[in-house]
Amino acid sequence: MDQYRVFGNPIKQSRSPAIHQSFALQTKQNLSYQSQLVALDSFSQTINNFISQGGKGANITVPFKEQALALCDQLSERARLAGAVNTLSFEQGKIIGDNTDGLGLVQDLISHNVLFKNKNILLLGAGGAARGVILSLLDQQPDLLVIANRTVSKAETLCKQFSDNRLIGCGFDEIELQGYDVIINATSASLSGSVPPISEQLISHKTVCYDMVYSKELTPFLIWAKQHNAKKVIDGLGMLVGQAAESFSIWRKIKPDTASVLTKLRVELMLE
Ligand code: NDP
Repeated sequence: MDQYRVFGNPIKQSRSPAIHQSFALQTKQNLSYQSQLVALDSFSQTINNFISQGGKGANITVPFKEQALALCDQLSERARLAGAVNTLSFEQGKIIGDNTDGLGLVQDLISHNVLFKNKNILLLGAGGAARGVILSLLDQQPDLLVIANRTVSKAETLCKQFSDNRLIGCGFDEIELQGYDVIINATSASLSGSVPPISEQLISHKTVCYDMVYSKELTPFLIWAKQHNAKKVIDGLGMLVGQAAESFSIWRKIKPDTASVLTKLRVELMLE
């Protein structure tokens, strides 16, 4: 049976095994997918051990996405630009890296009827998650993509790296005031119960607010967005399922249906 794993630290919370097992059942693929905790100093050794045991592919999560990139013999353009890899494939002695976070995000937003063409997007955060979605967002042909971050230099550096005149990097207090069409929170602020300190005037009646973090209840950012009359609020559970579906289709060359898996996962989350 083909073996896949997700590697991270911590890893106990990972929903990836449940998601991939659902995809495998649905598409009748004979595979096993498990999670594995990796000691902070033994990432490359752990991956090499898995390859020598016959592993076919892996997902990589916090904090190893940059280290995964360094291990690769071949990289997709989006992984190279993101500077991070969340999907590894092991083929003919080579390690091939990709990053499916951006597609997962964009497809989830599209499934909520959010369109990007000629729109103004505000991306909060400049960490790995933000980096991973920039190329996919630009591919959707927005007019403007503003990246705002607590550490301003990181947002500015990202803009330089992507070198696209639709990108602007700034701090939270420097964002030009206008009603954005989409505001995406790619910070981890919600995990600590806080909201990035941005003006509520960035929200208008047409603004869709998205938080990459998901939880049983609305995240602090989404509560804030609702209080300021955002048109729609969406959490990151759909992105999680979407990025997993992209990894699955890279490995198995078959695209699973995400809607049914997302519904099941949402119910499980609500029951926790
Ligand atoms: P990183 O640690 O790489 O980056 C964290 C980002 O959050 C940085 O921009 C940091 O700013 C900012 N930040 C942290 N705390 C605060 C705060 N209190 N106020 C404002 N900004 C803050 O993490 P990732 O980019 O990998 O992940 C970000 C979030 O996205 C995580 O919560 C993760 O769970 C989620 N995620 C969800 C996915 C999904 O599929 N739904 C996929 C990937 C990530 P600074 O640079 O100044 O430190």
